[in-house]
Amino acid sequence: MTPPRVTVVGGGFAGVEAAWALAERGVVVRLVEMRPVATTPAHTTPHLAELVCSNSFKSKLPTTPAGRLKDEMRALGSVVIRLAEEHAVPGGEALAVDRERFGEAVTTAIGAHPNIALERRAFEPAELESCLGRGELVVLATGPLTSPPIAEWLARLTGRQHLYFYDAVSPTVEASSLDRDVVFAQSRYDKGGDDYLNCPFDRDTYEAFVAALVSAERAPIHAFEAGGKRDAPAVEVESAFLEKIRYFAGCTPIEAIAEKGARSLAFSNFKPVGLLDPRTGRRPWAALQLRPENRERSLYSLVACQTRLKWGEQKRVFRMVPGLERAEFVRYGVIHRNTYLDAPRVLEASLALRGVDGLYIAGQLTGVEGYVESAAMGIYAGLSVARRLANLPDIAPPPACAFGSLIAHLTDPTPRDFAPMNVNWGLFPMPEPFIKDKRRRQEAKLAAASEAFDRWRSALAG
Ligand SMILES: Cc1cc2nc3c(=O)[nH]c(=O)nc-3n(C[C@H](O)[C@H](O)[C@H](O)COP(=O)(O)OP(=O)(O)OC[C@H]3O[C@@H](n4cnc5c(N)ncnc54)[C@H](O)[C@@H]3O)c2cc1C
Repeated sequence: MTPPRVTVVGGGFAGVEAAWALAERGVVVRLVEMRPVATTPAHTTPHLAELVCSNSFKSKLPTTPAGRLKDEMRALGSVVIRLAEEHAVPGGEALAVDRERFGEAVTTAIGAHPNIALERRAFEPAELESCLGRGELVVLATGPLTSPPIAEWLARLTGRQHLYFYDAVSPTVEASSLDRDVVFAQSRYDKGGDDYLNCPFDRDTYEAFVAALVSAERAPIHAFEAGGKRDAPAVEVESAFLEKIRYFAGCTPIEAIAEKGARSLAFSNFKPVGLLDPRTGRRPWAALQLRPENRERSLYSLVACQTRLKWGEQKRVFRMVPGLERAEFVRYGVIHRNTYLDAPRVLEASLALRGVDGLYIAGQLTGVEGYVESAAMGIYAGLSVARRLANLPDIAPPPACAFGSLIAHLTDPTPRDFAPMNVNWGLFPMPEPFIKDKRRRQEAKLAAASEAFDRWRSALAG
C-alpha cells in the first residue's frame, strides 16, 4: 500500500463511511479507531460502526425523510446501508439490524479494503497537529463521545466550550423471560406485521407502575453533564439537566414524562391506539412495546423507555409491567452526555473546520443526530476531501435533497440555539406555491429532493 494521503480519526458510522468513500475513489486512507485499546462510556465491542443503543436505522420507506436519505446514501455507495440491509432483522417499517453481525461485517469490510489501513489506538491532539502541519488532510469523526483530549483540543481550537446534549438508552430483556400469556404480538393498526410485542396495562397496573416510576431512585447527575459548575447546587443541576434534554423529545427520560401527569405516558410513549389485547378483546389502558434486538428474536428492547433510574430500580420498576414480571435484563437504560460543534459558526458547507486548513469534521460532531445522519455526513466529508485532492471545487448539495437539507441545517446562520437534528420533513424546503394538503406537500418535497439529488450527483460526476 502506498502511504496514506488522508487520516480519518474514529471508526464509527461517519469514520467508516468517510474512509470507504475515499478508498472507493482510489485514495489511500489511514483509519484510526481507539477501541478496544481505549473506549467510550457507551461502546462495548471492538467493532467499527458499533450501534450503541437502538438497533434501528429508522424507516425503510422511501416516502419518509429517513428513507429518502438512505436512498441517497445508497446511490453514493454507502457501505453502512448496504451491510445494514444484508444483516437486517424484522423491524416493521424500520431497517433494524442484528447488531453483532452488522458490526462484524463492517469491521471485516473495512479491514479487507486494499486502500484502507486500520490502526487501533487513541489519536492524540499532538499527532493531529503534526498531520495538519505536514499538509495532510484529516477527517475528525470521533463522535458524540469523543475522547477527552481531542474534545479539549477542539474546544480550544474553536474558541469556546462545546455544547452538550443528552441521549438515552432503553433497557433490553431476554425474550425467554417474557410472560407470553400476557404479552401479545401486534403492530399498531396491524401495520408492519407482528414484529412488536405489547405489554398491556389495565388501569390499576398502569397507575401502580407510574407511581413506582416517578418515586424510584435515579442515577446522580454530575454538574458537568448539565453544563454547569462543578459545585452548583443539586436543584440547579437537575433543572439545567432537564433543560438540556428538553431539546430532544426522543431523549426525555421516561420518568420525566411520567411526572408530567397521571396519564402522560398513556398518551405518549405507551399510547395503546391501534392495539387490541387478545385476552380481553379490548384496547388496553396503556401498552409498553417491545422490539426485537436480533434476528433470532432472543432479545427485546423496551421501546421509548430511556431512563436514568438506577439499575436496581429499573429491574424493580419495569418488572411491574404486565408480562415483564420475570424479565431478565441484559442491558439497562443509561443517559449520556454527547459532544457536538456549533456548526453554523465553525464549519464550512464542505464540513471543513473554518480557519484550520486540512481539517474536516464528520458525523455527529457536526451537529446531525442519529446513526444514519452521522453516516451520511461521513460520506459527504469523504466526497469533499476527495474533491480537494483532485483539485476540484466544492459542490454543496442543494437544500431540496436529503443531504442538502442536513447541510442547510448545519450552515444556517440564523441566530438560534443550534441543536443537533435528525433528517425530518421540516428541513426540506417548502414547495412554492404552498400546498395545503400535507400528503401532497410531502410528495412535492420528495419529487424536488429526487430531482435535486440527481442534479447534484451529475455535477459531482461531471
Ligand atoms: C449513548 C448513545 C446512544 C445513542 N443512541 C442512538 C440511537 O439509538 N439511534 C441513533 O440513530 N443514534 C443514536 N445515538 C446518536 C449517534 O447517532 C450515534 O452515537 C452515532 O454512532 C454517531 O456516529 P459518529 O460516527 O459520529 O460517532 P461514533 O459512532 O460514536 O464513532 C466515533 C468513534 O470514534 C472513536 N474515537 C473517539 N475518540 C477517538 C480518538 N481520540 N482516537 C481514535 N478513535 C476515537 C470512538 O471509539 C468511536 O468508535 C446515540 C448516541 C449515544 C452517545
